[in-house]
Amino acid sequence: MSSCAQREITDSELRMIVLRGMYELRERQGEGCYYQDFVDKVPIAAFSRICSQLGEKGLISWHSPAGALPGSGFGVITATGVDLIESAPVKQQPVDSNRQETTRAHCPNCGAEREALVLAFDEKKEVIPYDPDAPPICFYDTSKFLKCAGCNFTFLQKVSWNDDALDDFGRPYGSIEYFPKWAKEPVPEWILNASDSSEKHAPVFQKLREVLFAFESGSYWLACVGARSVLETAMIEKVTDKGTFSDKLDAYQSASHITATDKEQLKIVVEAGHAATHRSFHPTREQVRLAIEIVCRILQGVYIHAPQTDALKKSIPPRRQT
Ligand SMILES: [Zn+2]
Repeated sequence: MSSCAQREITDSELRMIVLRGMYELRERQGEGCYYQDFVDKVPIAAFSRICSQLGEKGLISWHSPAGALPGSGFGVITATGVDLIESAPVKQQPVDSNRQETTRAHCPNCGAEREALVLAFDEKKEVIPYDPDAPPICFYDTSKFLKCAGCNFTFLQKVSWNDDALDDFGRPYGSIEYFPKWAKEPVPEWILNASDSSEKHAPVFQKLREVLFAFESGSYWLACVGARSVLETAMIEKVTDKGTFSDKLDAYQSASHITATDKEQLKIVVEAGHAATHRSFHPTREQVRLAIEIVCRILQGVYIHAPQTDALKKSIPPRRQT
């Protein structure tokens, strides 16, 4: 636990943050200010409450339908609010050289989520009025230049989202990209050797390498679909094309390439690939990683460990007959 616990920010301070933010965005009177304008400054759970308080004081006009999700609604600073900001003395903030903004991000060098220092931040915004009777939709592209607190690697995080894109809890939901895209996960030696070999199963491993490349490049949907295709290629190579995936898995198990437990895990890999192909399923990085690890484990068992254990068995001297 950190020795310097962070002080809880008060409603009074949050009101000033929101009011000052709406003052700075007052040119935008036609469209108002939204939670997305304060996403880095105000917790989403507090935003509606703070805006209601400012509305009660007549400092902003606040519009939020009854029963709205947290963070929804928009506000416009009033003349009273503008007067308050313009008459308030500018408070000199003490410089705290030890304090730097941090965020959680996927470090491409660690290949995992890490705490990262925000070295620079930029935001691009585009307002598009789709419906004359509704507020326009704002599209955002935020870029953060980050430094991993674990390995000191520097990288760029780009987040794209819009006002309409909220998850089930009313929180902003966007796509996240990282540059550079590679992760520190070299292709295992046994896959490289198998894909470069002249064996008839080499195409299975060439496809697997492409899946790993897609994964390391951040193309998780593609890697999820690809993992299922690699599995299908491997099964056909061993037991010929038996029809449906279910039939192929049955044949694969009957030929003793996999156990009943393996089959249950592979069914999930097949279903994830199917859902990605036909049901707009967008798996997360960790979900795709799991699918790939399962496929790799099975293929290593079938193509590498099985022949190696056969060879080992033959090399062991037989027990002496008594
Ligand atoms: Zn790192």
